[in-house]
Amino acid sequence: MNITASKLYNYLQCPHRVWRDVWGPKDEKIDEVNPFVQLLWDRGLQHEEKVISKLGKFLDLSKIGFDEAADKTIEAMKNGEELIYQGVLKGEGLMGIPDLIRRQDDGTYIPIDIKAGMGMEGASEEYGGKLKKHYAAQLCAYVELLKLNGFASENKGLIIDINEDEVEYKLDEKMGARTPRTWWEFYEEIKEEVGALIKNEKENLPANSGVCKLCPWCLSCKKWCVESDDLTNIFYLGRSKRDVINKELGVSTVKDISSLDIADIAAQKKANKKFLPGVGVKTIEKIVTRANIVANTKKPIIYEHLDLPEVSTELFFDIETDPTQNLVYLHGVYERKDGKERFVSFLSEDNSKEAEKKAWTDFWSYIRSLPKDDYAVYYYSPYEKTMYKKMHAAYSEVVSEDELEDFFAREKTIDLYSDIVYRHTDWPLGSYSIKEIAVYLGFKWRDESPSGALSIQWYNEYLENKDEKIMKRILEYNEDDCKAMMILKDYLVENNI
Ligand code: SF4
Repeated sequence: MNITASKLYNYLQCPHRVWRDVWGPKDEKIDEVNPFVQLLWDRGLQHEEKVISKLGKFLDLSKIGFDEAADKTIEAMKNGEELIYQGVLKGEGLMGIPDLIRRQDDGTYIPIDIKAGMGMEGASEEYGGKLKKHYAAQLCAYVELLKLNGFASENKGLIIDINEDEVEYKLDEKMGARTPRTWWEFYEEIKEEVGALIKNEKENLPANSGVCKLCPWCLSCKKWCVESDDLTNIFYLGRSKRDVINKELGVSTVKDISSLDIADIAAQKKANKKFLPGVGVKTIEKIVTRANIVANTKKPIIYEHLDLPEVSTELFFDIETDPTQNLVYLHGVYERKDGKERFVSFLSEDNSKEAEKKAWTDFWSYIRSLPKDDYAVYYYSPYEKTMYKKMHAAYSEVVSEDELEDFFAREKTIDLYSDIVYRHTDWPLGSYSIKEIAVYLGFKWRDESPSGALSIQWYNEYLENKDEKIMKRILEYNEDDCKAMMILKDYLVENNI
């Protein structure tokens, strides 16, 4: 079996995915494509078609079989073809299908991938950003294949990004100021890993992680994690720390780690600086505490008195966004005022900038109508604040920077996750998401499969068919998200110390 550019991509999403795809229990793999993943594919395809439609003349190899396309790709490059779409490159156990292969002035070829995302990571007006690992790895594979076939000399590729900008990937450059290895060396390392996993010369473990939600193996790996009492069932203990602890302490279950001798670990770390790399004593303390809650006491803990505001009006607020369109389509608020409750929503009726701006303007009119200093706002995670800063950049006339800053800086505006749950509490749960916690507290979403990713898919369906039943589902899901925060807040007040 070949190492392919998409296997490299999968490896970077989850190091276990490559092994499981080849050697995992096939009957446990979900066959249907997750609707949100399908939406992403569709968006990617639409973007690719848009870019391709503007290219002019090119050789299209997208509609023939791999083997024929591979022969035709080589033949086309030998004949000096200017631009090849979906050419197939093969050689030495490696295979890749760059979206485009373009002839350069010196007669060599450069691979190009079309991506429906930004070309660089974290780019801003002041900072150009850095190369994206998964894009770089795929381009490296294409360059290696072109070189193997004698059609490239430089380690360089291009990304055509969501803005249709061409972003150059110089693959011989260092990965970062403090990272001595180059992108090419990084690629060599992961290619070797992927090769060993495909051949079953190496096996790595599943983990309970955020990316699992969209993976076809999610149920299978989750089952494994539960049955194995894996350490990634402990909140904030991810794959890499789990692997270090498995290897260096020989501890692999939540039950066993809950009885670990922290003083002994601290002494070993003091004596040997290389012991348990990347896992400090404080982290071990946290892990042992959380393991003890999960495995033994099975009860939440509030570590100190929480000063939550006493006000006439409380807002539990949550937004829904579609990152594939850079759109905030819903601002939902569950309002509790003098004992009365209602859901208030500000919806972008379509995906136009005007509709998005109107919903945001209406949201701010609502906020300004509230009794000054006598209302509290609860939201969950820094995401709302980050997105509102982006909204401000897009529609600065709706709310000033000062007003936005003041809104989030108020003592009565509280990020329930970052300010309270993460800092001052622990739960007998593997994730401290609002869904996990609220369900633990007995709350039930009306929707059978509530998820932010599905809400995006519903919204896109609504845009197409304006089906009010779908809109009802979107609003109910958001309302329940908001209410879930209220359930949590009330629990914290009732159980405050
Ligand atoms: S379910 Fe999670 S751990 Fe398993 S292969 Fe997928 S992403 Fe990896």
